[in-house]
Amino acid sequence: MGGGAPVSVQSMTTTKTADVDGTLAQVYALAAAGADIVRVTCNNVDAARGLAAIVPRSPVPIVADIHYQYRLALAALEAGVQGLRLNPGNIRKPDQIRAVAREAKDRRIPIRVGVNAGSLDRDLLKEYGSATPEALVASALKEIGYLAEEGFDDIKISVKHSHVPSMVDSYRLLSETVHFPLHLGVTEAGPLPGGLIKSVAGIATLLLEGIGDTIRFSLTADPVEEAKAGRQLLEYLDLRERTGLDLIACPSCGRAEVDVLALAAEAQAKLEEAELPIQVAVMGCVVNGPGEARDADIGIAAGRGKGHLFIEGQVVRVVQEDEMVEALLDEARKLVEEGAEARMAAADAGAEEAAARDRRQLLEIQGDANDIRSRQAKVSEIAARP
Ligand code: SF4
Repeated sequence: MGGGAPVSVQSMTTTKTADVDGTLAQVYALAAAGADIVRVTCNNVDAARGLAAIVPRSPVPIVADIHYQYRLALAALEAGVQGLRLNPGNIRKPDQIRAVAREAKDRRIPIRVGVNAGSLDRDLLKEYGSATPEALVASALKEIGYLAEEGFDDIKISVKHSHVPSMVDSYRLLSETVHFPLHLGVTEAGPLPGGLIKSVAGIATLLLEGIGDTIRFSLTADPVEEAKAGRQLLEYLDLRERTGLDLIACPSCGRAEVDVLALAAEAQAKLEEAELPIQVAVMGCVVNGPGEARDADIGIAAGRGKGHLFIEGQVVRVVQEDEMVEALLDEARKLVEEGAEARMAAADAGAEEAAARDRRQLLEIQGDANDIRSRQAKVSEIAARP
């Protein structure tokens, strides 16, 4: 993490850690959805014992989340975890923090200094008046100081806030102050869709400024949604390679000849199931669709009772409306296997002409909203009137 490594996605289990099978099932689901690292609570002795059984069977590194009881950090280290998260707001005794640092150093296990505006060290809260960016960064620096006393510097830091502008300011200040890898997140972001919007607003803003090495969406939702969202965000920002589907679709308008929302939902469900790592466009009309989506790997545009299947903007097949999704799926599979050039060469003879005929027909019926020339002629005519 850090030092040029790809930005990683984290999520956290919601199971009781003592429930080893339940927790492992969720860890596997999170890894499959895109999580590179999974955090698990270690809030009592049974949880620490559970970790000893979970860690060796996990497909991804496990980080133990520690609050209040430093002994549980020592127990989690003994259980074999690959990382610790310590909350400086509620493990406050320097000798306890140093004891954890010594043990983690011996075992070469990193520690995340996880500052949270909602559980900020009460002395700092008093000193700064509220959970300001300066107060959050001061909390992180205080903790780093204790760790440094033991020569420990395998550190990641987070300064999470539930208020997006404060979160962004806190991380900006932190990144100017230290050079450790940063874990980004908007804490307690809430349920969908608001939680998603807050998380994206904060995390994406920072990532685009080059700040952040690992991210977590803290959603009040199935954690699988967190992992998926995190992974998708990194792919959309070109910070990770595409591993899954990127479906783009027009928002639909009065020109649409089909129910674009239903068509996009059906296409998304089937393409996601097929696990094809491509960008697919679903467009509501054949007049503007293929042109507007020419950057997509493949797409379908709906006409009157027909669908135009296109690859990089070139129509390769014209199919009946009720075959659109199946045809798209079939062609998408072939595209991934054979490549765009081969599939464009295998286009149906006459597909482009049939598509052009459909477009003309539709324009005759609906009128050409983009007919700039005739509009300009009318504009000139009006302007030239005496
Ligand atoms: S592609 Fe066609 S239906 Fe979709 S928004 Fe554009 S003009 Fe409207």
